[in-house]
Amino acid sequence: MIVIPRKQYTPTPQGRTLPKGLGWVWWKGSLFIECPSGHRAAFDLSPNGHQVAADGTISPSAVCPETGCTFHEFVRLADWTPEPPPEDA
Ligand SMILES: [Zn+2]
Repeated sequence: MIVIPRKQYTPTPQGRTLPKGLGWVWWKGSLFIECPSGHRAAFDLSPNGHQVAADGTISPSAVCPETGCTFHEFVRLADWTPEPPPEDA
């Protein structure tokens, strides 16, 4: 089990930016997780996809969809909120 930090947006004149590296974020109503290799992917939270417990633990385990990437971990999302903030809904 690894704990994935929540990324914080940084406003810039060109728009919001995110730090690189392992982390998660809400974006346009979807949960995105970035693996340590910098691959950012949306996760399906529908009944056929992943479930996130109140403490942020994801089931089943998270697998990076990038071809050739070996990231595959049981993860917990730090500072999990089950709903996106209004600006990211
Ligand atoms: Zn990856």
